[in-house]
Amino acid sequence: MKVVVCVKQVPDTKGGVKFNPDGTLDRAAMLTIMNPDDKAGLEAALRLKDQYGAEVTVVTMGLPKAEEVLREALAMGADKGILVTDRVLGGADTWATSQTLAGAIRNLEYDLIITGRQAIDGDTAQVGPQISEHLGIPVISYAQNIKIEGDSVIVERQYDDRYHVLKAKMPCLITALAELNEPRYMTPGGIFDAYKAEITTWGRADLKDVEDSNLGLKGSPTQIARASDKVRKGKGEKVSLDASESVEYIMNKLKEKHVI
Ligand SMILES: Cc1cc2nc3c(=O)[nH]c(=O)nc-3n(C[C@H](O)[C@H](O)[C@H](O)COP(=O)(O)OP(=O)(O)OC[C@H]3O[C@@H](n4cnc5c(N)ncnc54)[C@H](O)[C@@H]3O)c2cc1C
Repeated sequence: MKVVVCVKQVPDTKGGVKFNPDGTLDRAAMLTIMNPDDKAGLEAALRLKDQYGAEVTVVTMGLPKAEEVLREALAMGADKGILVTDRVLGGADTWATSQTLAGAIRNLEYDLIITGRQAIDGDTAQVGPQISEHLGIPVISYAQNIKIEGDSVIVERQYDDRYHVLKAKMPCLITALAELNEPRYMTPGGIFDAYKAEITTWGRADLKDVEDSNLGLKGSPTQIARASDKVRKGKGEKVSLDASESVEYIMNKLKEKHVI
């Protein structure tokens, strides 16, 4: 069984968020981590490796620095790391990102593709389902439990106050929630091996069946027009009224602000 896991290197927001003058994230200037949902997806893949002897390949698209998340994945137990990096891929929105990742994955054999539900920086939760669409395979999103039965996968999909149990024939794509499991730590031996391991690096020329018009900033149907910090909360106000007047006062305020 072959599993491909898409892992994104994201800014660790604890270290503060920095923007370029054009409104895009200044990724090079921020501390980075493996996206939490992706780490759970990777852990799920590694459990399939422990249970069924699956081969786990980790793919990331990003700056050359994104190689760090691949080495982290290898130190956790993944078998192969593929970095997709090229100047022409920069500034991609979710459409161009998913086209790029699908173009890379077309070179690989896979039974299962696992992505995170969403990345904590872009936060769109679009890339996983879009990859499945480009590859023409089913998608099950919001996985909180994954089981394999013969040539099918059975997934509990989180849904508001309940979950759905869905079964799909492989190959298929699953988007994983951080709640799926508790990811394992890297092992010391794994860290040494991961430092020495060879990472495969692919550029534009290695992407299969993708048009130039679907890649990078130029191939992105959406563009960031403006980025700004959150609006700070007001100072608040203190009023002294009796109980029923207070209720009326608060209700009027909520109506004024169209909250109710
Ligand atoms: C309108 C718009 C314009 C943008 N323009 C820019 C820009 O100019 N410059 C810029 O730097 N960013 C830009 N971004 C952000 C960038 O497009 C997103 O980071 C990227 O498309 C992935 O989307 P996401 O982070 O929302 O991922 P999600 O859809 O939330 O991610 C879901 C899952 O897909 C996988 N995944 C996502 N991205 C990758 C990746 N790169 N490698 C491997 N796996 C991945 C992961 O498993 C992840 O958990 C833009 C975003 C939008 C919405």
